[in-house]
Amino acid sequence: MISYQIQVKSAEAHIFEIRCELEASATTAQRFSLPVWTPGSYLIREFAKHVLTVRAEVNGMPLAVGKIDKHSWQCAAAGGRVALIYEVYAFDLSVRGAYLDTARGFFNGASVFVWPQGREAEPCSLLIAASEFAVDQHWRVATSLPRAEIDQAGFGQYLAATYDELIDHPVEISNFEMHTFEVRGIRHRLALSGKHHGDLGRLIADVSRICEEHIRFYGEVPFTEYLFQLLIVGDAYGGLEHRASTSLIASRKTLPRVDESEQGDDYRTLLGLFSHEYFHAWNVKSIKPAAFIPYDLSREAYTSELWLYEGMTSYYDDIALVRSGVVCESDYFKLLAQTITRVLRGSGRLKQSVADARFDAWIKFYRPDENAPNALVSYYAKGSLIALALDLTLRCESSNERSLDDVMQALWLRYGKQSVGVPQGEVENIVAELAGAAAARFLHDAVNGTADLPLERLLREFGLTHRLRAAESAEDLGGAPAKSERRHGSLGVRAEGKTDPKLLHVFDGGAAQIAGLAAGDQLLALDGLRITNGLDKALRDYAPGHKLRVHAFRRDELLDVKVSLDDAPRDTCFLQADDSATAKAVTARRDWLKLSTDA
Ligand code: ZN
Repeated sequence: MISYQIQVKSAEAHIFEIRCELEASATTAQRFSLPVWTPGSYLIREFAKHVLTVRAEVNGMPLAVGKIDKHSWQCAAAGGRVALIYEVYAFDLSVRGAYLDTARGFFNGASVFVWPQGREAEPCSLLIAASEFAVDQHWRVATSLPRAEIDQAGFGQYLAATYDELIDHPVEISNFEMHTFEVRGIRHRLALSGKHHGDLGRLIADVSRICEEHIRFYGEVPFTEYLFQLLIVGDAYGGLEHRASTSLIASRKTLPRVDESEQGDDYRTLLGLFSHEYFHAWNVKSIKPAAFIPYDLSREAYTSELWLYEGMTSYYDDIALVRSGVVCESDYFKLLAQTITRVLRGSGRLKQSVADARFDAWIKFYRPDENAPNALVSYYAKGSLIALALDLTLRCESSNERSLDDVMQALWLRYGKQSVGVPQGEVENIVAELAGAAAARFLHDAVNGTADLPLERLLREFGLTHRLRAAESAEDLGGAPAKSERRHGSLGVRAEGKTDPKLLHVFDGGAAQIAGLAAGDQLLALDGLRITNGLDKALRDYAPGHKLRVHAFRRDELLDVKVSLDDAPRDTCFLQADDSATAKAVTARRDWLKLSTDA
């Protein structure tokens, strides 16, 4: 048994103290390492940079310890109870790291717990100690870790079968609100931290229906109970999946207001986040690439099928919203059209296949720079469109007898449920088995190629028209028809700021790039008039083809360039139910979205 202990050392200085203790061999020096990445987020994060002090003990007496690489420490060989005791600076508000201030504590295990090398498979105990500060603040503990002996506030002993399990249950320590609800007899909890005025009753009712849909989808659950940890802040968005819980961070504006019954885009985004991370309890926490069993947390763990885990999950997170009745059909089409728009707006999709994400996630995707739209494709968004295209293809070719649902269920039954890693290429094999070689080839080409998917043709078979138009402003995310027929000139950029806007991205082949403008340039004036109300509004006065004089600063040097405005690209999608669709197409659509036929 490896014994861990964590406690608040100083909330004001954001320091947790952690102790990892085990019975060590008298002849071998024991090494301890901190993960360099966390499962679910494929980037080297170097959590060890937050370790402040390290010391060691044997049987309660000081023991020599030294650092041997950027994330590992080695104790001198000593028989008996060897402990590594270290302090971690915790001030990362993201769901991947650790955070501690006078209002709240949180940690994702991978960012704080070392593993004793060679002893990873042993059972672990974790004592979450009630420090004086935590007791004074009336803090409580919310985690899905199996409990051994805890007090009413949740402090005390927890157990994990292995190190892998220990770091797969994040811990919230604060004055959170706790809401409990049952779905199919399984206890679900929502621990919410942060100030808000949201309608939690409505949120829980909607989340329950989404959970119900995912459980119906697989027919069984991989956990005995489930915990949603939600942190509400002014402006942030993210989630990290775990086997029996998820940590979510979202903006206050995404919560439904007590006095409103309408469903806004922001609230739908929050529901999509709940849905996404919950679906991951099956897809990636249970149905896992063989390369992740076990996770190698000391270096990058490459798997070519990240798209399968993130793309499929991104497809099912939104479709579950309509299948569960939480969003209406037309709002689902809006979400789908916005995903199509997101993919179309980056020319990176024509250069990078989602299969290439195998390596590139680790160096590109989680650290997008100014050239990201020209350089990379999101394996979330493009992956979800591949899932959509494959689903519709399987349905078309089998007269709606087969679908992507069968593929996911086969993956669950053969791999996830059996705790066996999914071998590379297995999804293509399952598709071939269920629907034939042509469907498997379609999938292979979609994943390994960069051509746009035949969505317009496929959606037509389901009575949907797929239309493209130019974006009307930077806020135009797609999903709806144009408000105006008027077309204005485009610079081919994304900019921020109202006065002297700064270029964030300069798109390949666009007017700005051709004229020599670059990301970071600050645009001062168009045709001698200062830009004071944003670039979109300033460009509205000019037609495509118009030649403009642009003044800009690059660093502290003034640029004076001539630009010939483009016709804005037709990269904004909206989908509409086709009134002239055949009864067969309408039935196929309702079957796809699991809508009752008489609705
Ligand atoms: Zn995900």
